[in-house]
Amino acid sequence: MKFLSPTLFAIFLLINVAQSQPKEISILHTNDIHAAFVPHKSNGANSGNNQLIGGFLELEWVLDSIKQTKTSTLILDGGDVMTGNPISDMTYKNSMGGALFEMMNMIGYDAWTIGNHDLDVSQENFKLLTRIAKFPTLCANLVDTSGNYCLNNYPFKIFERNGLRIGVVGIISNDLFSLTNTKNLKGLRVSDAFNTMQHMVDSIDSITDLIIGLSHQGYSADSIMAEHVKHIDVIIGSHSHTRIESPKFINGVIICQAGSNCEYLGELNLVVENDLVVSYKGKIHPLWVRHKPKDSDLKQMVEYYKEIIKSEYEIKIGYTSVPFKRSRSGESIIGTYFADAVREVIDADVGIINTSSLRKDILQGDITKLNIYEVIPFRNYICAFKIKGTELRKIIKKYVESLRERKVSLNISNVRCTWKRGKKKSIINKIYIGQEILDDDKIYTVGTIDYVLDQAGRYLGFIPDNVEKTNNLFYDVIVDYIKRNKNIGGLYTPNFKEE
Ligand SMILES: [Zn+2]
Repeated sequence: MKFLSPTLFAIFLLINVAQSQPKEISILHTNDIHAAFVPHKSNGANSGNNQLIGGFLELEWVLDSIKQTKTSTLILDGGDVMTGNPISDMTYKNSMGGALFEMMNMIGYDAWTIGNHDLDVSQENFKLLTRIAKFPTLCANLVDTSGNYCLNNYPFKIFERNGLRIGVVGIISNDLFSLTNTKNLKGLRVSDAFNTMQHMVDSIDSITDLIIGLSHQGYSADSIMAEHVKHIDVIIGSHSHTRIESPKFINGVIICQAGSNCEYLGELNLVVENDLVVSYKGKIHPLWVRHKPKDSDLKQMVEYYKEIIKSEYEIKIGYTSVPFKRSRSGESIIGTYFADAVREVIDADVGIINTSSLRKDILQGDITKLNIYEVIPFRNYICAFKIKGTELRKIIKKYVESLRERKVSLNISNVRCTWKRGKKKSIINKIYIGQEILDDDKIYTVGTIDYVLDQAGRYLGFIPDNVEKTNNLFYDVIVDYIKRNKNIGGLYTPNFKEE
């Protein structure tokens, strides 16, 4: 200190005073948009009323009004922008779904991280999306096989706001390879999320005032990360579609997540002083459609795509007198019906699909192409494979065990049986395939979708050979099936009856 001239000493004091002054920053965040760029009926809170929620125009309106009252903001998205609406399959600047990212440019995002569904089309397509986005893609633990960052991702970025240096580190779930069709993940590797996050935090801690983990791994993994990774201040989460009404505080880490489908905007207001968050306040804003959107390029673009989708997809193809509800704890009418369409189209003995391929329920009433698209927005193709009766029996046994545990990952059609709970395992009576009793020596054909086969070990318990792939898109098959069986309804009786 004694070497400093009086002028330098004065500057030194000034800097120190400036550093010790509390500074404000507002983090505004979305996650799991799933292409929901237009308002829709809510699946979440207050779903009983008919008011519409969400969409980019309401999001922009609320964002702008918050921005007017805040000194500085950072707008982040936690990934899974894609998959959920036909706009994801529409070409924009040579990419599928690129229009979504162009609209996010207009909204003013500062950064996003990759979600598993952002890789649903292909790696090539993903790279095109990152080129349209004028905001960086952050993901520290998705690398190529040599360990290099790839797909135009940055591990982190440091943003300067209001004199604060804010490090944002992106992270993706360790489970990526069981969440996305592995044909789209060739040459990629996921390094351990927590270790990578710790490494990143350690390397930027000394050059930042605040560290945010932008995480696409779901709330429970985020809470565990908060327990294990040191010196992280905030986790902006995604993937589990969790509505965190006011931020969670775990092991000194603030955790936020804002539902899904562009229905909520998260707002986290922080006061940072001397490298520490000294206070925080957060909430999520439900984006009920309340405001008349202003005329803008964004409005034009939203309306352009809305009209195309209306003319191509809002077309009635059938009617259901019962709600088509999904279930992950037992059989469901929609699951059995869709599995049966898959079975029928290739004249198989049995149809099998995974419950997680169905993303939405269909309400009682008219069924449109858009309804079907929203239920199965993935580009899955119909496949067939042949197995011996003994193998089929194993699949059915595994399925009955999942019914017993009420954790069902498959929907099966054209199989019937009764079963009861034994002490440790279930006891299955005669199994019927169609009208006939399962014959252990017979060869059966199973109709399914490519994703089930990609994850066959998990879903079927073995990897079938002699798989035949077709060019029939799951979505087209279901639309055709409903067109041919226009009126759905009546009493639904489960095929697997517990005695
Ligand atoms: Zn996800």
